[in-house]
Amino acid sequence: MGFRARGAVMTARVYRDDEGKAISFAWPGGYPVVHVMDDGEVLCADCVNDPKNPVHEGGYGDGWRIEGSQIHYEGPDEVCAHCGKAIPSAYGDPDASDGAERPPPSSPASTRAR
Ligand SMILES: [Zn+2]
Repeated sequence: MGFRARGAVMTARVYRDDEGKAISFAWPGGYPVVHVMDDGEVLCADCVNDPKNPVHEGGYGDGWRIEGSQIHYEGPDEVCAHCGKAIPSAYGDPDASDGAERPPPSSPASTRAR
């Protein structure tokens, strides 16, 4: 099976901590991590870990199946498809005129409309 996610998914493994929770930052380095769903959308770790969300690994692809986790090294902010939280890249967006600019952390939640 191939990834349809945008960007390069480094591994099909989901990055989790010792307690089995999806992580927000990879160690060592503290790089921001996004979790890629089968429809190519990304979720933040909070939404992956939220028991109210039907996130699952394996099985049928319904938009909630985690395909893998990736470190968001560089580029524009990724936006969590569920809560709308911006996930800044580790090194910012090299194409942005002002790399320090960040959208508001709490933009209106865009539901995944399932
Ligand atoms: Zn989220």
